[in-house]
Amino acid sequence: MKEKDRATDKQSRISLKDKELFIFDIEGVVLRSIDDDDINVDSKVVETLEKLRENGKKIAFLSNISRTPFFRVAEILVDFGLAKSQNEVFTAGKVAVEYIKQRKKKARVFVISERGLIVDFEIDNSVELVFEKPVDFVVVGMKRNINFEELNFALECILEGAELISVGYTNYYRGRFGSKEGVFIGDLPICEMLSFASGKRYIKIGKPDPLIFGFVLAEFGVNPKFAVMVGDKLETDIKGAKNLGITAVLVRSSQTKKHFVPPSKSFPYDKPDLEIDSLDEILDYL
Ligand SMILES: [Mg+2]
Repeated sequence: MKEKDRATDKQSRISLKDKELFIFDIEGVVLRSIDDDDINVDSKVVETLEKLRENGKKIAFLSNISRTPFFRVAEILVDFGLAKSQNEVFTAGKVAVEYIKQRKKKARVFVISERGLIVDFEIDNSVELVFEKPVDFVVVGMKRNINFEELNFALECILEGAELISVGYTNYYRGRFGSKEGVFIGDLPICEMLSFASGKRYIKIGKPDPLIFGFVLAEFGVNPKFAVMVGDKLETDIKGAKNLGITAVLVRSSQTKKHFVPPSKSFPYDKPDLEIDSLDEILDYL
């Protein structure tokens, strides 16, 4: 089938007209990478978001990111005219803080992570970032120079009743740290290890796990069947959305493969409901 025929065929079958909430993945969808020194936002992306708003659609941005603090991610999206306010922005780090606040007042949290996630906990006065017992929650994000001492301390806390949470949903990262270039172990295998050692289960905060999607839907009070997830990764954005009955739109683009999630047991992945090459094509389906 020709490209154009295929688009026409899809157009006749899919409508996003009755959708209320459009959730956008950030990296690879509305901008290339949040770490770029020179962030470039395509004016077509900003216009598309504006048009959706004009059509009465609610907009959210959802990223598994925890290496960059939430406030910085939100600041970038607002500064570039993508988000109207930080209330539209959700990162795995932000949702982890909110999840813990809902679970316990003034929770004492031990965080194994690099700066981003630490800052998320540091700047929220309703949680306490601690390095001594008692500990209510052990939170694990990306830490490329993790050490045995903190792992042992985390294990002790978990054995004494602390809840374990993984943030970011990553198997391993590829990148550079100091003089080392290569792969770095992610939050999931570290939590698997702590879970294996303690015999306790852990909570996952990050796409495709349902918790983070549920958090965004609850914030906007929208039923999954009236929500759309627009993402560039089958194994996180699309899989997670389809699991919950959220309409999934895949933006075909050159993916920034910085982190790797575990291979899905249900391969091939669920197909997206719609595939587009550029974000503005979404307006054809309203
Ligand atoms: Mg992405």
